[in-house]
Amino acid sequence: MNITINNLGKSYGKKEVLKEINLEIEEGMFGLLGPNGAGKTTLMRILTTLIPKNQGNIKINNIDISNKKEIRKTIGYLPQDFSIYPTMSVYEALDYLALLAGIKNRNIRKERIEYLLQKVNLENHKNTKVRALSGGMKRRLGIAQAILHHPKIIIVDEPTAGLDPEERIRFRNLLRDFSEGRIVILSTHIVEDVEFTCENLAVLNNGGLLYTGKVKELLQDAEGYVWTVNIKREELDSVRNEYQIISTVSEGDLIKLRLISKDKPFENANSVKPSIEDAYMKLMKEV
Ligand code: ADP
Repeated sequence: MNITINNLGKSYGKKEVLKEINLEIEEGMFGLLGPNGAGKTTLMRILTTLIPKNQGNIKINNIDISNKKEIRKTIGYLPQDFSIYPTMSVYEALDYLALLAGIKNRNIRKERIEYLLQKVNLENHKNTKVRALSGGMKRRLGIAQAILHHPKIIIVDEPTAGLDPEERIRFRNLLRDFSEGRIVILSTHIVEDVEFTCENLAVLNNGGLLYTGKVKELLQDAEGYVWTVNIKREELDSVRNEYQIISTVSEGDLIKLRLISKDKPFENANSVKPSIEDAYMKLMKEV
């Protein structure tokens, strides 16, 4: 199970949306992290064969991406703007999609759907109308439709946006369960999504690849660069001009800062262990 991307490029007119992307994705959960507009959706739409690339090569399990039919059998996709048949019940919607996917036998469809509903924890909602589902339930239904045809690769675009914290955690765990023996690509601009689920990641910005590798190694790269320090309120502006500030917390007359700096920024600053957010911010700053 692997995806190999070599020198991928994509343009819309004169605008280069993806440039010189080289990536190797193996079994497990893979995070695709980057700010809005970085090119994540474009990359995923190319992988799912929905849009063509302009440059480079992509192979999925050694099958060239130009072989759309074979590639589509391998991939399940949950787009960001996923929505289906609001007036159907959950069961009816899946049954219809299963029919479209070519499962003609009603009993086989039933068996498959019941299995999926149980997998995504929607057994108790099979008669609920799609429009009455919560955001988290809709995303879980989205996963059910994405894995209807037993894909070995699942691609999900910004799935946690708009979910409350409990649903977000639940959804992440669901994805992690699915990543056993499969590739799950999770695209997000939320650093925390990657921190808690992915072993490997790629960071995109402005269509370019800033980093690819283990989450652990990204953290190691930021080791020694993250500091906390208490400063006076009136010093904030000048510190802001000089350093990349990650967070500020008011503590009485003082402000507790967390910042990125190669060297010790102040005599009373303390070096702290980087979080993924710190490492990501450091990476963004280096551009
Ligand atoms: P992300 O998913 O990281 O937010 P996208 O892949 O959606 O980023 O977009 C990357 C860039 O490509 C953006 O600047 C966006 O405006 C541009 N873009 C995406 N689709 C099109 C299109 N069909 N035509 C022109 N520009 C596009």
